[in-house]
Amino acid sequence: MEAIGVDRMRRAAVVAIGDELVSGQTVDTNSAWLSRRLEELGAAVTGHWVVADDAKATADAIAAAARSAGWVVVTGGLGPTPDDLTRQAAADLLGQPLQERPDALEQIQERFRRLNRRMADINRVQALFPASAGVLVNPIGTAPGLRFSVGGAECFCLPGVPREMRMMFDDTVAGVIAAGIGDGRCRLTRTVHTFGIGESDLAERLGDLLARGTNPQVGTTAGGGSVSVRIYALGDTREQARRMLDDAERRVRDGVGEFCFGCDDQTLESVVGELLRRRGQTLALAESCTGGLLGEMITAVPGSSDYFVAGLTAYANAAKVALLGVEESLLAEHGAVSEPVAEAMARNAHARTGADWALSITGIAGPDGGSADKPVGLVFIGLAGPGGASARRYVFPGDRETVRTRAARTALSLLWRALTVEPE
Ligand code: AMP
Ligand code: MG
Repeated sequence: MEAIGVDRMRRAAVVAIGDELVSGQTVDTNSAWLSRRLEELGAAVTGHWVVADDAKATADAIAAAARSAGWVVVTGGLGPTPDDLTRQAAADLLGQPLQERPDALEQIQERFRRLNRRMADINRVQALFPASAGVLVNPIGTAPGLRFSVGGAECFCLPGVPREMRMMFDDTVAGVIAAGIGDGRCRLTRTVHTFGIGESDLAERLGDLLARGTNPQVGTTAGGGSVSVRIYALGDTREQARRMLDDAERRVRDGVGEFCFGCDDQTLESVVGELLRRRGQTLALAESCTGGLLGEMITAVPGSSDYFVAGLTAYANAAKVALLGVEESLLAEHGAVSEPVAEAMARNAHARTGADWALSITGIAGPDGGSADKPVGLVFIGLAGPGGASARRYVFPGDRETVRTRAARTALSLLWRALTVEPE
């Protein structure tokens, strides 16, 4: 057997199990999330193995992962149905039969008692463990996890359900790995989000901050019209790593200036919501080509009822007239996708709902419906507020989904800008 070198304990591998993953039906988000966490803990990730619901394939993948790294995190295949074979794969790898484990069974029964539900007989298989495996508590689901050593690696098997997997990893696995890596250093990351500036312009503004091989390390990722700046700091203590992050964040914000709207979990919609809440102000929407997408984004933020009044999807011209009071002459003269109509939609949504602010979106999302003077991707976004109403013209590149998403996010960015520059 290979000796467990220090270096090996700085390496981790991820195994994701599920027919739905290999068939492409479900995107393997677990491995991506685990990789980020493992790297934060200081473990270099050697690879991802993604395999079907098959005991032999699972055992082979775990064995291969264990040859490459000192830590193996497995997700999926812990359910109660015949296609959940991770327990069997562990038993095969360890050469130990599966036996019912009273503490695991008690954990499962307790979960059903708390939910006031009868436990089906098939759930008993979730209490089957190989003799040398430990039981990992699952506080929010029925499937307990497994922990065992194989080929000199420590292996943790967690459920596939992302919420359960994440909670169990943070609660029980992360601490073990952090202690096992044992260099006592702390890795922290922070992501600063920007909107309205391209990646190359941003890179120019950040200059030397983006140099490779530095600590803290700063890098950019672009997507959906926004660019994120990721800062990664390695400190001797948590406090030192945090100070390094704070300092780097300040330098990033100084460089990027007014384009920064938030960091980490903050989104344009959550930041706009927070600004509205702080001012005690409200928002209404009049959407055409986005068909309610902006309303969906805004109401996905918990607590949005504090500031979101109404969203009207007026798709047909007749609805823009009847429901939003857009003048027919405006539609006839300029067409539905025009600056005057966008402005009227915002102004009337503002007036009719009594909200402090109103946003409107009208455009050509494609793939059809474009013309020489009104191409696919042409979108007008209106904003009405205490200072009056106006609309702006945009042409977004991309397919239907991209145009709609960019339109909704750009509308949010206009309101965000107005809320940050206008006095309260
Ligand atoms: P399982 O624990 O294998 O029964 O997985 C339960 C559910 O979690 C699956 O039906 C998927 O929807 C989801 N899931 C499992 N593995 C993954 C993964 N690697 N990434 C994202 N979702 C997953
Ligand atoms: Mg499964």
